[in-house]
Amino acid sequence: MKQFDLYEPASLGEATSLLNQFGATAKVVAGGSDLLGGVMKDWVQGKGMPLPTQIIDLTTVPNLSGINVSTDGLHIGATTTLTDVIEHNDVQSTWPLLSSAAATIASPLIRNFGTLGGNINQRPRCWFFRGENFNCYKKGGDFCYSVTGDNRYHAIIGGELCYIVHPSDTATALLALNATAKLTGPGGDRSVPFDQYFHGPREDVLTENVLKPNEIMTEVVVPQPAAGAKMAWNKLKDRQVYDFAVVSVATVFTVDANGVWQDGRITLGGVAPVPYRAQVVEDAIKGKNIQQTAKQAAAQIRTVARPMSLNAYKIDLVQGLIERTVLQALG
Ligand SMILES: Cc1cc2nc3c(=O)[nH]c(=O)nc-3n(C[C@H](O)[C@H](O)[C@H](O)COP(=O)(O)OP(=O)(O)OC[C@H]3O[C@@H](n4cnc5c(N)ncnc54)[C@H](O)[C@@H]3O)c2cc1C
Ligand code: SF4
Repeated sequence: MKQFDLYEPASLGEATSLLNQFGATAKVVAGGSDLLGGVMKDWVQGKGMPLPTQIIDLTTVPNLSGINVSTDGLHIGATTTLTDVIEHNDVQSTWPLLSSAAATIASPLIRNFGTLGGNINQRPRCWFFRGENFNCYKKGGDFCYSVTGDNRYHAIIGGELCYIVHPSDTATALLALNATAKLTGPGGDRSVPFDQYFHGPREDVLTENVLKPNEIMTEVVVPQPAAGAKMAWNKLKDRQVYDFAVVSVATVFTVDANGVWQDGRITLGGVAPVPYRAQVVEDAIKGKNIQQTAKQAAAQIRTVARPMSLNAYKIDLVQGLIERTVLQALG
């Protein structure tokens, strides 16, 4: 691994001014399972992605970790570990979708030190991106190796230029829960709904979200679900021990006494460069009896899917998983 200078800021202000001072060669770290154990260890770098020479440890910043429930919902500090999210009583009882999704991430060891902020902001797992010798678009190069190479795990929706799938399970769940990210930087604080936090390669192929290089995610706020809201999470993996999603589905919705879908969301992981909101499916099920419509509504996902040479199998998987997840939430 390349050498770096480690900074241990004692405040958020110190952390952001260090980021501002060093610019593109500085990165924040929390658990380090992706940045240190992956990106830096494997020399994932390129013209548009220099290996960091200054690492700013967020775990030394006070009050960036912890879970609180207040009138506007659930507040989770960015350096809260995934295990703490999973085991929190209020998360389990009121936002079980989030604890279920977090519990399917990696291994217990990684969940014990991997953080929520790190999970949401982790870099993609495309094996060309992670390979030292592939200078692809996402690293500032001029080619996407997945187009002619092995693309069995790549995007089936929304890929252009780059065909990554967003790797974060918590991001898929938090998008379904209509969460908001709180960010801070030299320009002050801002709140960005998860609907607007992630962007595809067309907006900027070098990044996956709107976080500026000198900003830090401080917390995630999840609103109280509507009374009686139903929710469920499912994730299909290749390896059953631990693995990233081949496809995943999160749903949150309200239903009337006749089993008719009122309002809600269906979000997908493992299929698109962003955690993907399946609005074509939501539109097809809204105002209809869920039991009777789930199958046809799930099939609507086919209208937006554009598979690559080796991943058409994902369309059947995601269609089936949407139907299963919605019916499971309905109970
Ligand atoms: C073997 C293995 C299996 C895994 N399986 C899964 C899986 O199934 N599902 C899944 O979702 N993930 C999976 N992961 C990814 C893992 O969950 C994440 O790496 C972990 O949650 C990241 O947290 P961290 O604190 O270690 O992140 P770090 O490595 O510290 O940071 C990750 C990235 O986020 C940035 N970052 C961290 N915190 C902040 C912040 N507060 N503000 C702004 N930027 C920030 C860092 O600069 C870095 O770029 C796996 C990882 C490994 C190594
Ligand atoms: S899919 Fe994206 S990250 Fe993977 S090789 Fe293509 S440009 Fe690079």
